[in-house]
Amino acid sequence: MKKLEDYVISIPDFPSPGIIFRDVTSILQDGEGLHLAIDQLLEMVKDVDFDVIVGAESRGFIFGMPVAYELHKPFILARKPGKLPRETVSMDYELEYGTGTIEMHADSIKPGQKVVIIDDLIATGGTVEAIAKLVEKLGGQVVKICFIMELAGLKGREKLAGYDVESAIIYE
Ligand code: 5GP
Repeated sequence: MKKLEDYVISIPDFPSPGIIFRDVTSILQDGEGLHLAIDQLLEMVKDVDFDVIVGAESRGFIFGMPVAYELHKPFILARKPGKLPRETVSMDYELEYGTGTIEMHADSIKPGQKVVIIDDLIATGGTVEAIAKLVEKLGGQVVKICFIMELAGLKGREKLAGYDVESAIIYE
């Protein structure tokens, strides 16, 4: 039987020389791969007491939404700047070159809510660290952070120290 990692195609030198890009679309374009990915995320949260799932733009939407649907939980979008139509809160974070910004609707998390964050991949951890801070700014509590893939060499987990982090596939 194929494991989830068997569905990931790794592309050397994309988007720039020396980077090995781990392609999640190769999981999605196989019905069994897609099913396995969502099942593994469901397994990660099965014993977690939580109220809301937050997905990171854009591949976190793809993987987070089916989990929210299956568990009858709300799904909240953490988006790039200028995309959300109502009042937002925003957080800047470091990118390899420059800075990024992530936004959420100000009313998306209610104080005291327990939140699971889902994204496709953790590299430096900057994106999800910013989302966790936004959730906390809104009064939420991050109870678990789930990824399909982790690039362990980039030590993103160190940025997320103190959070319960789980990845389905870990690349050293
Ligand atoms: P971080 O903020 O952890 O440095 O970067 C994570 C973000 O970069 C994720 O949202 C992810 O979509 C994207 N990313 C970085 N490297 C890769 C990669 O090799 N494969 C994929 N699919 N996404 C990547």
